[in-house]
Amino acid sequence: MLTPTEDQMKASVVALILDSKTEEAIRLLSRWYRVSVPRLGIGVVAGKTKGVAAVYSQNRKEIMAARREFMYDPFVMIHEFYHHLRSVSGHHRGTEKRADRFALDFIDAYRRAGGSRGQG
Ligand SMILES: [Zn+2]
Repeated sequence: MLTPTEDQMKASVVALILDSKTEEAIRLLSRWYRVSVPRLGIGVVAGKTKGVAAVYSQNRKEIMAARREFMYDPFVMIHEFYHHLRSVSGHHRGTEKRADRFALDFIDAYRRAGGSRGQG
C-alpha cells in the first residue's frame, strides 16, 4: 500500500478542499491523525459565529461553517480540524495561534507542491 508522505498528505488535503471535496479532505485528515471524523455543517451557532468563518463544537464534534463558501476555504477548515484533533486527543482545544500555524503549514505544503507546476 502506498503511503503518502506528510507533505503529500497536506498538499492533498488543501487540493481536495479547493476542489469542493471537503468531506473527503476531512476523512483523509482523520485517518492520518487516527481520530474520529468530525461532522460538518453549515449554519450559525447562536452567539458564536458573528464575524467568524467557522466554529468547532466540542460537544457535537462538529465543524460548523458560517456560510457554505467557508467549507471550501482550506485555511478555515484545517484550522477548525485542529480544534477537533486537540479535543479528541484529550487535550484542550488548543490556542488560536497554534490552529492558524497548523493550517498555514498545510497551505505551505500545497504551495511547495504547486511550485513544480510552475506557479513559483
Ligand atoms: Zn479557532
